[in-house]
Amino acid sequence: MKFLEDIDVKGKVVFLRVDFNVPLDENLKIRDETRIQASLPTIKYLLERGARLVVASHLGRPKGQFNPKMSLKPVAERLRELLPGTNIIMAPDVIGPEVDRLKASLKEGELLLLENVRFYKEETDNDPEFSKKLAQDCQVFVNDAFGSCHRAHASVVGIASYLPEKAAGFLLKKEVEHLSRVTHNPEKPYVAILGGAKIEDKIPVLESLINKADVLLIGGAMAYTFLQAQGKGVGKSIVEEDKLQIAADIMKKAENSGVKLILPLDHVMATAPDSQEIALVADSYPLPDNLMGVDIGPKTIAEYEKYIKSAKTIFWNGPLGIFEVKPFSRGTVEIARAVAESGAFSVVGGGDSIAAIQQAGVADRISHISTGGGASLEYIAYGTLPGIEALK
Ligand code: ADP
Ligand code: MG
Repeated sequence: MKFLEDIDVKGKVVFLRVDFNVPLDENLKIRDETRIQASLPTIKYLLERGARLVVASHLGRPKGQFNPKMSLKPVAERLRELLPGTNIIMAPDVIGPEVDRLKASLKEGELLLLENVRFYKEETDNDPEFSKKLAQDCQVFVNDAFGSCHRAHASVVGIASYLPEKAAGFLLKKEVEHLSRVTHNPEKPYVAILGGAKIEDKIPVLESLINKADVLLIGGAMAYTFLQAQGKGVGKSIVEEDKLQIAADIMKKAENSGVKLILPLDHVMATAPDSQEIALVADSYPLPDNLMGVDIGPKTIAEYEKYIKSAKTIFWNGPLGIFEVKPFSRGTVEIARAVAESGAFSVVGGGDSIAAIQQAGVADRISHISTGGGASLEYIAYGTLPGIEALK
């Protein structure tokens, strides 16, 4: 795979795929521009080197229909502020004669922002004709949309076969470098921490970590499906009944491969997810019938911290409790601090996990915070992504 430094872009029309899928408020103001900032180094680099730059992204889920509420116009306006002196042209469409005309008349150092690629259902279908139209009049493909690389879509995968010269942008490069350290030959001991809402979203990553990690620390709602699969009564805690067998299989596989899969030893219990009040901390089964587990308890925190302290590599996805509710956030916050202090190479992925790390105030002491939730989990599960393969 080539990187930006390996290609010559001067005077060439470069098709750059980024992830500008930013949240907009009801007045179409950008609520959080992290994703725009994340690809600025790539954009600046290409403009400074004289590329004629075509930029594409999706925003939201317009489901193949033109939708002014999901237009990239607010992003074009913000780019004009972030890149003063650069001529930024907002395209009226994604493909078609008007867009082709704008592409052809682009000058070196100018930027043409296409409309939301998902205004066409051919984007998510990875339609070859559509991919070809995207590539029309372009010479180079650069992908910097790490958060979309797990999708085999036209502007991520399909387009690559129509443009012989291709490279990964700086953001994609950084993600791959860091994520590969927790995926390919991680330094041992390797401790993975998995929590969050559902096992369902995390089965492939669980299966893969069984073969890579030394210790799997489980928390969050997910823990209760594992505990139930062991025949322990978990009261009103969230259990995915249809995943009990998978949970049992994963525990068996872990045992067979000598991986320590560790479940919480005690539980912060409450009457409801939003009750704001701890009813009690339980460390024996069955857990009380009328209560649900909302956080890991102090014994679990102490036990998990021991493993975290001795780790050389840590991957974390998923909060260990309902961290959005203050009294139930302690487990997640304490574990975040322990990861930050461990001295291990640490990677955190997932939208809620990143929010939890920020809430704990330790984001600057985590080696890498992955910008793509789904993409980072799939990278760890499969060791690569469709969008990365397409660049090879
Ligand atoms: P991420 O976005 O980091 O991948 P998830 O979306 O998988 O994480 O999970 C985050 C959600 O899991 C949070 O909204 C949190 O409240 C919820 N959660 C964590 N522990 C529990 C629990 N014990 N019971 C119910 N929900 C939980
Ligand atoms: Mg989430």
